[in-house]
This record gives sequence, structure tokens and C-alpha cells, in this order.
Amino acid sequence: MNFDFTKTFDVAVIGGGIGGCAAALQSARCGRKTVLIEKQCVLGGLATSGLVYIYLPLCDGNGRQVTFGIAEELLHNSMTLGPGKIPGNWKNEQNAVEPKRFRCTFSPASFMLSLEKLLVEAGVEIWYDTRVCDTTLDHGKVTAVTVVNESGFGRISSACFIDASGSCSVAHRAGLPCIEENNYMTIWAMEYAQGARRDWQDNLDCYNITMNSFDGESRLRLTAERREQLYPGVSDEELLRRTVSRGSSGRIVSEFVLESHRILCERYKNADRETLFPVKIPGMPQFRKIRCIEGEYVLKTGDEKIRFSDSCGLLGDWRKPGHVWEVPYRTLYPKNGICGLLCAGRCSSAREDAWEVTRVIPSAAMTGQICGLAAHLALETGREIPELDTALLQSRLAAQGFVFHE
Ligand SMILES: Cc1cc2nc3c(=O)[nH]c(=O)nc-3n(C[C@H](O)[C@H](O)[C@H](O)COP(=O)(O)OP(=O)(O)OC[C@H]3O[C@@H](n4cnc5c(N)ncnc54)[C@H](O)[C@@H]3O)c2cc1C
Repeated sequence: MNFDFTKTFDVAVIGGGIGGCAAALQSARCGRKTVLIEKQCVLGGLATSGLVYIYLPLCDGNGRQVTFGIAEELLHNSMTLGPGKIPGNWKNEQNAVEPKRFRCTFSPASFMLSLEKLLVEAGVEIWYDTRVCDTTLDHGKVTAVTVVNESGFGRISSACFIDASGSCSVAHRAGLPCIEENNYMTIWAMEYAQGARRDWQDNLDCYNITMNSFDGESRLRLTAERREQLYPGVSDEELLRRTVSRGSSGRIVSEFVLESHRILCERYKNADRETLFPVKIPGMPQFRKIRCIEGEYVLKTGDEKIRFSDSCGLLGDWRKPGHVWEVPYRTLYPKNGICGLLCAGRCSSAREDAWEVTRVIPSAAMTGQICGLAAHLALETGREIPELDTALLQSRLAAQGFVFHE
């Protein structure tokens, strides 16, 4: 293929969601020439353009903070442009929702802007409107990605790539084994609703709504009345087909999005036009899980009880107080000794229950930071990603406040 341009970086991060932003931030702060490639023109991924607006807790659910570093920095960053602010004593349980955990609601637009400022100040080269569309795997090492943007097709070479695409697209294009799971449809919109209750933390005037949700199996959470209104005469089987799916097929992504828009139109079509109307709808499909890497280790249900010698940090389980997960370094790179690639955020290696924990905002920030540091250390020590000295990685993370075991 003839390329319109070629570029070389120390570290190339694909995807400007929370995982990618944390990875790029860490890598640039280590002095690495870092590029962040993002197909949209905003940062934050699902957390911002997907209109997710809740920064889940950094604690274990019993009032003890377990996640530190950039995950904590971004919590503050999410609210620097308002509305509201993080209280100085945010760790104190008096600020917490029950069970005892602090979380905040942020304005997605504010977070987008403040994230961008943070990355620009750190020296990250941001490439917006640029999509990675292919990966070069050469003798078991990822050596380049192909991108497309207004300048045409380009080839980006780098010593280390960090796949933070949310759908593991770099690894997938390289033909590396990935894990997929079903998603149930959740529909969000930021709407103007006169007289509506303000958000629980009183931060946002507009508030998000979840109109319908279906569990991942087959049971329907809609009331019979609501179902008849939204899906008149539709069989259970057809309803499932429309609302439970994987995000890994181009056609299904479009069908999923079209269906969610149809339901939103249903919500607004009979409303009083002045007191209830949509303000913004998500710019990303609402798939919680698309693809993650099949890593050297796959974190799975029950692993929260395991102590891993290569643990690089702790994650509280946002659903279950008292459950704390260690994140082994081996979950951040592909199995079978593939070199040159790390996977951050919801691309890190996990299944089922464990994926529920690794996919959320604080977790994406934490795994992103670890990947950014691991990329830097691999360059510093001349080691390949799978051969990195995990004791060295842990010592550098510990210097940033990370804790590895309960
Ligand atoms: C309905 C729903 C509700 C949720 N609620 C919460 C919640 O309340 N709290 C919480 O903490 N988490 C929540 N989450 C999860 C959380 O928001 C995301 O999982 C998390 O933000 C993922 O971050 P990420 O960086 O791993 O991936 P993403 O946010 O998916 O970011 C990936 C980025 O990569 C870009 N990209 C993808 N492919 C390419 C490519 N080929 N080339 C260039 N760029 C590319 C995308 O545009 C995107 O910006 C929710 C998720 C969903 C779907």
C-alpha cells in the first residue's frame, strides 16, 4: 500500500477514552514522544460522548480508598470546569452514598474539555478525526498501524502500541484472539425536563435517563404496559434480537443504535414540546462490552479472592461493597508472547463478572496508567512487554501511591 504520510513515535495510544487518556498522560509525563489517535473530535469516549456521567468510586465500599494515581487525578479533573466541585473531604464517609462510597456526577462536556487541556499540557500529540483501520504484526510483534484521516492513509510506527479502542480493534485487526460478550440495550439521553428532580449530587441541571434496560439473559424488565407501548405485538424472541447483542459486527452496531433512537423518539413524540425534549444523545453506541484481549491471564469470576504476585493495582467492585480485585500485569498484554502491544481500559483481559469491574471509568484510568508506565519502562530497560520486570513496574507505581494487595 502507498501511504500518504508516515510517522514514528515512542508510544502510540489508540483511543482517546479514559483508558487511552490515562495511558497517554502517563507515557508523556515519562518523557516519551506520545501520540493519541482518536476517531472522534473529543476525548473521554463513553464517559463523555457516550454521556456516561457517573465517576464510580475509588474505594472498597467500606470507606477505604483502594485505587490511586491518575484515576484519582481524573476524578478531580472531571469537575474542574463545573458544575459543582469535589468536596475537600471527599474521602470522608459523610459525602458518600450508601453503602459508604464517594462517587461524583460530572458534566460530560466539562470533562471533555478539561481532559484535553491536561493532555495538551503534558505534551501528548492528539490526532483527532483519525481512525486506526489496520495493524501490522511482524514476527509476533506489533510494529505499525494504518490510519485514515483527511490527509489520506498513513502509517504510524512505534516501539509500543496501547490498544484503548474500547473494542480491541488494534489486536483484532492483527488477528489476535479476543473475548466477546452480549450486551443488553440501555438508552440514555441528556434531556431538558422542566421540574424534574435534580441529580442526586445536585450537579447537573439536565440529567441523564435510562429509559429501558434488559438483562443479558432473557428476562424483560419492562412493565407489560410499557412493553405494549414500545413493542406492540413483538414476540419475546424478536424483542431479544433487537435489544441483546454483541457490538462486534458493523451491521449490528447500526441496528442497535437505530433501535435506541426509535425508542427515544417514542419518549418525546407525545411530550409537551416545551417542558420535555432531548438536548443531546450519545455519540457512541451503548455497548458495555465489545471485545477485550485474550491476555496472558484472563481475569474471571472468583478471582477477587486471589493474590497475584504481578498485581499492579486494586479495583473496588462498584456493585459489591467489600469486594476488591487485584489486576495482574498479565491481563494487559496478549497471550502467546506477542510483543509491542498493551491493552487498556475495557480492552484489558477479563470475562463476565471481572469484566464488569475492569470496564468502568476508574478502572480504565488505572489500567491506562499502568500501560503507559509499562510502555515507558519497556523502552527504558530494552525489554519486550511480556518480559518486563514486574517488580520494577510495581516499585514505580508504588511511588505514585498504588497499592497491590489488600
Ligand atoms: C450504558 C452504559 C452505562 C455506563 N455507566 C457507567 C457509570 O455510571 N460509571 C462508570 O464509571 N462507567 C460506566 N460505564 C462504563 C464506562 O463509561 C466505559 O466502559 C469506560 O468509560 C470505557 O473507557 P475506555 O477508555 O476503555 O473505552 P471507550 O470509552 O470506549 O474509549 C475508546 C475510544 O477509542 C476510540 N476508538 C475506537 N476505535 C478506534 C479506532 N479504530 N481508531 C481511533 N479511535 C478509536 C473511540 O472513539 C473512543 O473514544 C457505562 C457504560 C455503558 C455502555
